[in-house]
Amino acid sequence: MSRSWQTRLLHSAVSVPEGYRSLATAVYRGSTTLFPSASAVTDQWDQERVGYTYGLYGTPTSLELAARICELENGCHTILTPGGQSAISLIDFALLNSGDHILVPRSVYRPNRQLTSALLSRFGVTATFYDPLIGAGVGEVMQENTRLVWVESPGSVTMEVQDVPAIARAAHERGALVVLDNTWSAGVLFDAFAHGVDVTMQAITKYVGGHSDVLLGSITVRDEALYQKLGAARQVIGCATSPDDCSLALRGLQTMAVRLAVVEASALEIARRLADRPEVERVLHPALPSCPGHQFWKRDFLGSSGVFSIVLSPGPTREQVFAFVDALELFEIGYSWAGTTSLAVAYTIAPAPNRPAYDHRLVRFSIGLESTDDLIADLEAALPALSR
Ligand SMILES: *Cc1c(COP(=O)(O)O)cnc(C)c1O
Repeated sequence: MSRSWQTRLLHSAVSVPEGYRSLATAVYRGSTTLFPSASAVTDQWDQERVGYTYGLYGTPTSLELAARICELENGCHTILTPGGQSAISLIDFALLNSGDHILVPRSVYRPNRQLTSALLSRFGVTATFYDPLIGAGVGEVMQENTRLVWVESPGSVTMEVQDVPAIARAAHERGALVVLDNTWSAGVLFDAFAHGVDVTMQAITKYVGGHSDVLLGSITVRDEALYQKLGAARQVIGCATSPDDCSLALRGLQTMAVRLAVVEASALEIARRLADRPEVERVLHPALPSCPGHQFWKRDFLGSSGVFSIVLSPGPTREQVFAFVDALELFEIGYSWAGTTSLAVAYTIAPAPNRPAYDHRLVRFSIGLESTDDLIADLEAALPALSR
């Protein structure tokens, strides 16, 4: 009866007391998920319905994070992905067929644009990049075969706030779905489903994670049919998320309200101070009237987060703009905003219809948790680099 110690390493008879409770969600790691009997084996992905079947489809840690995001966004179901960009690509691959047409705002997150023009095009999906401020006019750029209208509000870098309800009405009239990149709002400052959106995604990497140390994405849907489509596509595309990353995101959620409150107040004060400077032509902060689409922010949003851009006054060369960013001591230079440390990145923005030429004069900031006064002093000390 007594088994060898080698076997006991793997098949143990020990048990620990049950009933442990703590405030932290346990990290359940596992590729293999155990079944109670041979006949119970199944590889169905919908763990909510069939129970746990395989680590790729979720463990209690990832299912808890998904359910928490869903609850915050007032959705029907949430699916997690390894990053925000994989949430974007999964949505496109799950919901589009060869021969379909999609609409994407010109202000969209650049990798979304690259996916559309470099990859979807190879699968026979055509796209039109539209003016983010078009509103109800989106109906006029739709085609017979337009299946999906992407919105991102505010847009990445150039910050245009979109009239999402008007776009949703026009899209639905013509039978298209509306998909929102809700990363700037952390899924909480804009109630997407109340404004007509069908599918939202977020880079959990940003405000939910909140500490620049995790890459995750989420997709939240309005109804069960969309959940089935996206879940089935996720299974075969094979988007797995790490339970360790999910536990970091669950921890991030606990402090997200205080982080958002601090960066909102700080970003607004910094934006207003920059607006008064002669070196700054325009501040692109959704809560300020100088931002395109500000009226929609005022009507539809519950607040603002800590990311905004400025357009510098004409004069400085591209190298002088770089010198300004390099002269900042507290603002680090890097992608993936919404962490605790402030960031600055200089962008060159190609001319577009209905948008003034920003060219190399745009700098985007992500405000972190440093003292607002110190950040303002850092900016004021660096601005003279624009004319040196
Ligand atoms: C960062 C970002 C993404 C992509 O998220 P990753 O987790 O870095 O893949 C998507 N959309 C927006 C608006 C973003 O800022």
